[in-house]
Amino acid sequence: MLNLYLHIPFCKARCPYCDFYLVTRQEQIGAFFRALSFETALRSGDLKGKSVGAIHFGGGTPSLVPVRYLAGWLDEIAALCTFAPDIEIALEANPEDLSVETMDELRAAGVTRLSIGVQSFTNEKLRVLGRAHTALVSQQVTAGAIQRFDSVSVDLICGVPDENPAMWEADLHAALALCPHHLSLYMLSVEPKTMLYRKISKGLLTVPDDAVQASFYEKALSEVALHGYCHYEVSNFCIPGHHSRYNLASWKREPYFGFGPSAHSFFVSGENEIRTANVSSLTRYIDAPDKAEQFREELSAEERFTEEVFLTLRINSGLDVEFLRKENKLGYRFLESIEKFEERGWIRQQGGSLYLTDQGFLFADLIACDFING
Ligand code: SF4
Repeated sequence: MLNLYLHIPFCKARCPYCDFYLVTRQEQIGAFFRALSFETALRSGDLKGKSVGAIHFGGGTPSLVPVRYLAGWLDEIAALCTFAPDIEIALEANPEDLSVETMDELRAAGVTRLSIGVQSFTNEKLRVLGRAHTALVSQQVTAGAIQRFDSVSVDLICGVPDENPAMWEADLHAALALCPHHLSLYMLSVEPKTMLYRKISKGLLTVPDDAVQASFYEKALSEVALHGYCHYEVSNFCIPGHHSRYNLASWKREPYFGFGPSAHSFFVSGENEIRTANVSSLTRYIDAPDKAEQFREELSAEERFTEEVFLTLRINSGLDVEFLRKENKLGYRFLESIEKFEERGWIRQQGGSLYLTDQGFLFADLIACDFING
């Protein structure tokens, strides 16, 4: 089963914390989709006859694009591939774009799942994050989306400058009151070269310290568990059966093809695992879609091992101790790591596999690094 990703690189404006590849020149939407048709046709040999389980529209802001463009690309893909009967077609959306008419059009085009970038139900936090919507709009839109789509996910961010525990608790309660099928709860990551980074560096803004951020995460875990959500990845929670199929498949290292500028692909060719990346420039993509791919690598045994350890721990599907023993070149040291992390209460062993504890999820990457590097 193959999954597809389309990177739609348009946003109305860049949010001060965002470092994704995007442009704000919306007049290029038509040219972008013409280039996309070209790229799709060029890759038709790889797509033809394949069964597709999930299609994910990410970005950027896919909800900014008129639905007819998305529907047109889905038709092109449908002409080449077979859609699984229960296919997930997911779209990342900003609340202010989701009028009732747009949601109905998206549904008619085949979209089954919306991932809504709410980020907060507090207007104060939304202002700091530079978002264009209000808490009220998010509430109304999320409620309307739940009536129309099979699965609706709400994204929230914590650790925003000057955020206190009461604000985060209010966000969690507001989200849970709407009963979305899925929640993505992210810690704000302060990336270099962003406006937020510059303001923090100059002392104009302060983010909550590590202990407060950890308390936000712990609060989230206890609140979502009380409401019956299953914790299936570090930052992702769902009512059983409503996980993001596209994301989970990527974390399980299942093949996917990415289209559009800066999109990545992962697939198996013979004995080899291949990763590719498209050019991170809309101009170059539009000018020469036949040269969209700018990077290709065959994963070494070591890279496969590293990915397996990092991703298996993140989705908590049980990291096989025997696998670590066989594959880890520094195997004699990782046994000490297991003991160390068990003592700290970050991992537990069950049936020959390692699982992160709630506290361990906070340190998933650190634990994985320790296993890999000894
Ligand atoms: S809407 Fe999303 S992708 Fe666009 S700038 Fe803001 S955070 Fe980045």
